[in-house]
Amino acid sequence: MISPSPKDAAAVILLRPNTDPKNPEVFCVKRSTELAFLGGYRAFPGGQREANDSEINVANCADPERAAMISCAAREVFEEVGVLLARGAETLTVGQRTSLLDDLESKRMTWPELLRHYGLHLDADHFTFVGRWVTPPFAPRRFDTWFFLADCPAKQEPRVTGDSELESGAWIAASEGYSAWERSEIIVVPPVLHALKALAGGLTGDLVERFLSVPEAHREPTRRIEFHPNYICFPVRTPTRPPATHTNCYLIFTSREILVIDPGSPYEDEQQALAACVDDLIAEGKTVREIVLTHVHPDHIAGVNALNDHLENKHGARAQVAAHRRTGESLKGQINVDRFIEDEEILEFGGEPKIKLRALYTPGHARGHLCFHDERTGALISGDNIVGFGSVLIDPPEGNMRDYFDSLARMHALGNLTVLFGGHGPAIANPYEKIDEYIAHRLQREELILAAVREGASTPKEILARAYTDVSPKLHVLAERSILAHLEKLQADGDVTFVEGYRYTGK
Ligand SMILES: [Zn+2]
Repeated sequence: MISPSPKDAAAVILLRPNTDPKNPEVFCVKRSTELAFLGGYRAFPGGQREANDSEINVANCADPERAAMISCAAREVFEEVGVLLARGAETLTVGQRTSLLDDLESKRMTWPELLRHYGLHLDADHFTFVGRWVTPPFAPRRFDTWFFLADCPAKQEPRVTGDSELESGAWIAASEGYSAWERSEIIVVPPVLHALKALAGGLTGDLVERFLSVPEAHREPTRRIEFHPNYICFPVRTPTRPPATHTNCYLIFTSREILVIDPGSPYEDEQQALAACVDDLIAEGKTVREIVLTHVHPDHIAGVNALNDHLENKHGARAQVAAHRRTGESLKGQINVDRFIEDEEILEFGGEPKIKLRALYTPGHARGHLCFHDERTGALISGDNIVGFGSVLIDPPEGNMRDYFDSLARMHALGNLTVLFGGHGPAIANPYEKIDEYIAHRLQREELILAAVREGASTPKEILARAYTDVSPKLHVLAERSILAHLEKLQADGDVTFVEGYRYTGK
């Protein structure tokens, strides 16, 4: 399956008026934790291009595409934080700006109409282009985002408007934002991290050059995603279950060691890309301490042997492979699992920082499923128990719904979760909301299934027809597997019994 092509978007890095050029402050927003996509992430105001962005005349801009993206940037920063970056806006009062915003949001006026009506003009000189970044293909929504640096006008104070996508916003010194990321306190996407880092170097003459100094700022796909320091998320293309197209391999490292989790791609080009990333870490003097598998599924294990062949050929030694006993036994003949990881076992890294991962035996999606909890930062490698994109399939007998509920509860009970690193999709910055959502979704399904059985449906097919009216026919086979998993749980719970079909026990 081909990932959807990225949509045009723009973001504005607003600089505080009269900010200290050695330690500049920027306006950072926090995305609502309720958002399915990048909920809880820190970001810059911005959003998707709209059709009428191409109708706007932008002064000092000969390129129509750039003009449209400047319009998009100006409109988004106005809609999201109420700052109007247009010539003519300096004479407007706060009240007038508020009423303009209201005109736009209530759709009394379109953006081009509003600019015309109030005699406002966009000027490219207000928007310094600092890069174009493309969302990696592992995300459900992908953007080709133009980043612009802009001075916030002295008389305008940004504030998060009624926009429900954003929770809050604040001026923050770029250097402080970067340190907050280093302390694992905030989650950002790669272009935001790059911007904080570039600005932390000060408003120097070569600032734009520094922004544009990485290939990713020129639409090169980002391979190495550091949502968290010392954690590299490296999505690799796999024949996984749509809509996902990639599986996340994680490289967790200290000054001395690298742990590789789930090198899952069977494709040579992807295996080589991953090997090159591992080589870069090895070149810094680290060694691969182990390859660890969260579970048995092919899209999580298919690159293990290739990575080990590479390590042996290039660096003279294979890495030990570790997994839960049940995973190891299932993989016999395919992959040599050298060591079994027990529940509650601590994986302690050598070197700096001091990283300790606690293995949590969390079956449900697969019999030998493991999650790994970093107690220091509250990060949890959640494997396929919780994913950042797509849904989790519970397919018996490998899958077990009762175990799955228990595993979700166990994950939820961890006290200090800050981020979930799932097997697919972006990191999840709102862990408890996400786990609650998974539990609620499953309970809702269970109720529908039980109601269908009560009304006389006795097979997964009959239940599907009654209870899963929202599922596309293409997914019916998988939905029936999932219904079977729910029925097995209901049977174990004593709510249904199986006599020539499933029956309600009346309990
Ligand atoms: Zn899986």
